[in-house]
Amino acid sequence: MYNYLLYLAYLNKKLEGFFNEQSEYIVCKKGCSKCCQNGKYPFSQIEFRFIMLGYSKLSAEIQEQISQKVKKIQAEKLNSNSINFVYECPFLINNECCVYDFRGIICRSFGLMSINTKGNSKIPFCAFEGLNYSNVLNPETKIISQEKFEKSGCKNEPLAFNVGYEFLTSENIEKNFKITFGDKKPLIDWFDLS
Ligand code: SF4
Ligand code: SF4
Repeated sequence: MYNYLLYLAYLNKKLEGFFNEQSEYIVCKKGCSKCCQNGKYPFSQIEFRFIMLGYSKLSAEIQEQISQKVKKIQAEKLNSNSINFVYECPFLINNECCVYDFRGIICRSFGLMSINTKGNSKIPFCAFEGLNYSNVLNPETKIISQEKFEKSGCKNEPLAFNVGYEFLTSENIEKNFKITFGDKKPLIDWFDLS
């Protein structure tokens, strides 16, 4: 776990730099939790162990709320035929992440434009809801508009970074930081309440 913490410290710093550089396009703020309301939230084993450490520090009352949410989501998932089942994160309580310092890697990078393993850039969904990058997005073509950028008066170009989940949890990272991520699956599938 110690090496994982070192990796998180490195990642936080790196992401902070990216968010600062892109600040003209970023409107993330406390209370905005759209990105925690409809997702799959891929988590590796080590990330789940870490977030459960955060869970262990919560009050019994909040833990109970999370357990109830988990049960409800798992039942809904079981009844759903969709392989794209999405849900509100069980750690979102009163519109805030109750395990913020222990949150997953995907939670830390979300909001930036990322580059996927095929080299394509991905715009965060909230751009289409008037949030991050919406000031330079062409909603019809679904791409960043050069024209809007030129008119925006923004100094830094809108850029996509290599912050896709696969890259941030890749074998290279495991090798460089001497960590093992372990299995990866949607957050909700890690809970065993039986
Ligand atoms: S990434 Fe988007 S949805 Fe999430 S906090 Fe930032 S602005 Fe809100
Ligand atoms: S762990 Fe926290 S930041 Fe991550 S999706 Fe859940 S509520 Fe949001």
